[in-house]
Amino acid sequence: MNIASPSSRVELAGFSRSLAGQDTAALSVSPLELGETATGETSSRVKLGMDTKTCTKCKRTLPTVEFARDASKRCGFKSICKGCDRAKAGAYYRANRDRRRAYWQAKRDEMSAAYFVLRAVRIYGGQCIECGSVEDLEFDHVDNNGAAHREVETLQAVLRRIVRTGQPITDYRLQLLCKRHHLAKTLATRGQAA
Ligand SMILES: [Zn+2]
Ligand SMILES: [Zn+2]
Repeated sequence: MNIASPSSRVELAGFSRSLAGQDTAALSVSPLELGETATGETSSRVKLGMDTKTCTKCKRTLPTVEFARDASKRCGFKSICKGCDRAKAGAYYRANRDRRRAYWQAKRDEMSAAYFVLRAVRIYGGQCIECGSVEDLEFDHVDNNGAAHREVETLQAVLRRIVRTGQPITDYRLQLLCKRHHLAKTLATRGQAA
């Protein structure tokens, strides 16, 4: 229904009067206000006879000055009050801040892990003992007891221990192999076992 046309104003006003019998408020308000009342959004505006609006979030009925303007809304205001708007912005900021903190913590962890790898690799000679490659280096357990070692100590812990003492660990014999030679050794070991 087109609430903006003059004819509908009469119709609407007459309709509500005939329904309620004595609905004087409906007669005194503009078509626009009637339209808003129909949506239930600003019914208090008609009732109180002043510019108020009920916040859809906190449900408080406040003067419209407590609402930010919003041209896309029929009533010209945002549906939530300025107070709720601020609270929402604050919540967004906090969520964003937590995300940022988590990101940088992960970044720091990553960097410190990379640092320990670099230092430990240097302590172990910095190159594949088979081909001298300095890329894609991996720690290999000379005695093939890596599985047992990993059960009692994480790689990160081993690296920290190496860096802390500044020399190769003595309880497990480690050596550096490039990815290719590490894989070759692993396959050869499996071949022996089979
Ligand atoms: Zn509110
Ligand atoms: Zn190699």
